[in-house]
Amino acid sequence: MDKLDHWQARVDLACAFRWAARLGLHEAIANHFSLAVSADGRQFLINPYGKHFSEIRASDLILVDADDPSTLDRPDAPDITAWALHGALHRNQPRARCVLHTHSKYATALACLADSRLPPIEQNCMRFFERVAIDEGFDGMGLGDEAERVSRLLDGKPVLLMGNHGVMVAATSVAQAFDDLYYFERACETYMTALATGRPLRIASDEVARKTARQWLEYPDFAEKHFAALRRMLDREEVEYRL
Ligand SMILES: [Zn+2]
Repeated sequence: MDKLDHWQARVDLACAFRWAARLGLHEAIANHFSLAVSADGRQFLINPYGKHFSEIRASDLILVDADDPSTLDRPDAPDITAWALHGALHRNQPRARCVLHTHSKYATALACLADSRLPPIEQNCMRFFERVAIDEGFDGMGLGDEAERVSRLLDGKPVLLMGNHGVMVAATSVAQAFDDLYYFERACETYMTALATGRPLRIASDEVARKTARQWLEYPDFAEKHFAALRRMLDREEVEYRL
């Protein structure tokens, strides 16, 4: 397999890593993004262990096979939890083409509350109304059985709020997944900031929240245009991400 294969997928995923770093969504050299490149989802691109999100280039991304146990013996092997979590997710959810996992500050703060639901208090929160699965059963790092358990929780939703851990977003494209990750973190930031005031929250009705979520979904080409703008900025300011 040549590194020139799946080039546009590599460039898009590298762009997502660089922007996650710019926005402070990353944590050290942990956290991982993957993108399926085969129809069954079992072949996917993922970041190699040890690279900071801000330095990842298209050619750094490694192509792995979710069914190949020798993957961790490779010299450029992925992080062990990255391999377990994303491998299980791509095996069990072939429609989730792009999977982004972070411990971003505000989503993780929400994951630390006894009640990790995100109430519909403004438009960004309403975007995720009835669209977030919540993992209530954290059982240690995402390895082995824990990775298999987590991979089955999304239930067709774009966001898995991982209690005691962080967040995972899954979508059919890098642009859509990144847009969801960006807006989910923004929504959590607003909710945490509002909670910190100690004042009563202005919670919208289920009907208004549901309608607003639907309007987000119907908004034309939003995620694609957002991601195209992010790519243009990197093309001007750090074009080596494409190498
Ligand atoms: Zn994690």
